[in-house]
Amino acid sequence: MKKSMCITYEVDGSLYVNMTNKCSNRCEFCIRNNGDGAYGSDSLWLEREPTLKEVFSSVHSRDLTKYSELVFCGYGEPTYRLEDAVAVARSVKEKYPKMPIRINTNGHSDLILDKDTAPMYEGAFDVVSISLNTPNSTRYQEICHSIFGKRSHEALISFAKRVKSYVPKVILSVVRESLTEEEIEQCRAIADDAGVTLRIRDYIGPES
Ligand code: SF4
Repeated sequence: MKKSMCITYEVDGSLYVNMTNKCSNRCEFCIRNNGDGAYGSDSLWLEREPTLKEVFSSVHSRDLTKYSELVFCGYGEPTYRLEDAVAVARSVKEKYPKMPIRINTNGHSDLILDKDTAPMYEGAFDVVSISLNTPNSTRYQEICHSIFGKRSHEALISFAKRVKSYVPKVILSVVRESLTEEEIEQCRAIADDAGVTLRIRDYIGPES
């Protein structure tokens, strides 16, 4: 496995921030199973976790007016470093109040940090995009192999319902290729019930 210190990288006019290799899932469709990078980037496997100072420096060394969005995504799950991601996002908001900022997550931050994390997202992110992946916990475990077991699916839906009080937009996303039409409709019902948007995406790269 090739490693690098690729902390920020460009995707279609957006700037992506990569802060950790850690993830609470082992999704069968994860791009990490297929290679070391994404969208032509260097390897996104980090040699080590960058310090907060290094992340600040990488983000603020870019001309952020060039990008349509700043996205915390990562090769791992960015909420393993939620506090740091919030600090970086807030610093960008201070300098560029109109810059849209998104975090792509598997929705496990409550489980990872063992507390209600929803209020932490306020004032940092405009969009929280959460990978729903499946309509139920059994299928979730079959596909995503979460270290938190079956409670992880319910936990991410609960998180989606709560975090919408703190950020302008919450998305639940699914990968079209990994679900049947019936399962997609079940996921749509979950998103409707949670009062958030369902995004059905084609598999192209890491989202959380
Ligand atoms: S797809 Fe996202 S949540 Fe799943 S293993 Fe990969 S990084 Fe983790």
